Amino acid sequence: MKNSALAEKLTDKDQNYVWHPLTQHKKANPPLGIVRAKGALIWDEDGHSYIDGIASWYTAMYGHGNEKIVAAMTQQMQKLDFVMFSGFTHAPAVELSEQLIDILPDNQAKILFNDNGSTAKEAGIKMAIQYHYNRGEKRDTLIAFEDGFHGDTFGAMSASGISSYNGPFEDFLLKVVRVPVPKDENMEDVLKKLDTIIDGNACSAFVFEPLVQGAAGMKFHSPRGLDAMIEKCQNAGVLCIADEIMTGFGKTGPNFATEHLQNLPDIICLSKALTAGMFPLSITSCTQTVFEAFLSDEVSKGFFHAHTYSAHPLGCAAALAGLELLNSGEILERRQYIAQRHKTFAAHLGAHAKVKDARSMGVIFAVDLATDANRYGSLRDKLYHFFMQQGVNLRPLGNTIYVLPPYVITDEQLQQVYDAIEGALEIL
Ligand SMILES: *Cc1c(COP(=O)(O)O)cnc(C)c1O
Repeated sequence: MKNSALAEKLTDKDQNYVWHPLTQHKKANPPLGIVRAKGALIWDEDGHSYIDGIASWYTAMYGHGNEKIVAAMTQQMQKLDFVMFSGFTHAPAVELSEQLIDILPDNQAKILFNDNGSTAKEAGIKMAIQYHYNRGEKRDTLIAFEDGFHGDTFGAMSASGISSYNGPFEDFLLKVVRVPVPKDENMEDVLKKLDTIIDGNACSAFVFEPLVQGAAGMKFHSPRGLDAMIEKCQNAGVLCIADEIMTGFGKTGPNFATEHLQNLPDIICLSKALTAGMFPLSITSCTQTVFEAFLSDEVSKGFFHAHTYSAHPLGCAAALAGLELLNSGEILERRQYIAQRHKTFAAHLGAHAKVKDARSMGVIFAVDLATDANRYGSLRDKLYHFFMQQGVNLRPLGNTIYVLPPYVITDEQLQQVYDAIEGALEIL
């Protein structure tokens, strides 16, 4: 052992060898050592508890350590741990595909398995490019929203418009043309801009987070505008890829954000709450038309994209157990309850002098403070530490504070989160 033997606490030992994501190690405080989690709570190694106000990046919606999901995974582990997914199939993957197709928008027909959100997105983008290629067209341009976030692999990163993540890589990305998100005020301009983009480029796909841009700060846009954009794209043969990695499984109210739309996307990406935070798994679903473009006597027209852990049986078992909970009476009641409380709280906070905008959609709540701030600036740090002191884990983005709690959060815990936010307005 090098010096790690000297330190006792996780938080200290961590510093020896671990490189954390999204962390400037020269300035960041050491990470908290987390030893246990249950329901909406996580505990650190000193015994402090924190309400997981963002469900560990929108995953643990049925609560940490959910007994039904743990039991399903344990049972699966004892039967079939893992087997590769090329040449083989297994019951958890087949059943999960059946059930997902059942609840996804009507036009979705096939499920391709992956192991995280970025690779689900990457597969969606590659699918769109090859769809055109197989049909004899080279289409080299993606359409994407400003300030979108789609993941950290190259294709996903190309579609993402948040420059703090992309800086060093800008010169190496796929060709992307950006449009602002449609709102009531700019709808005509956005649609005109989209026409120009479609006319002037060989566009393969339009990539978007439907209705809510998560990493941008839970920013909402118009379903009517998005519908019109999808229609324009589809009329021009541009495949529409909905990134429901954050919004999927009830976050915006219905099971999927695309249910707020009339025009359905050609491809949908899901991850995060898919396995309730219990296992890395993702899927890319598509229409029968997309799938059929890959059928050929030429082997190379197939989709040669695979990850070793595609369709891991443990992840599929977790997802199946999660789906059973998603629309159970108990969870449905909580989904509606949280949505109602958020709405009331947004109306209440909206009137506060220090608040620029307070909004909610389903179980997503966000408030923009009436002050400018850097995405990773000092205001964000001050707020983060204040919330942690109050026993609430929230990760503000610039001047935006947002909440996306596990469905199982108790009434009192939710109140504690709101109280912490009101308290934060006092210290500003
Ligand atoms: C988290 C997220 C991703 C990336 O998923 P990873 O599993 O982190 O790679 C992509 N798109 C959206 C909308 C996300 O929220």
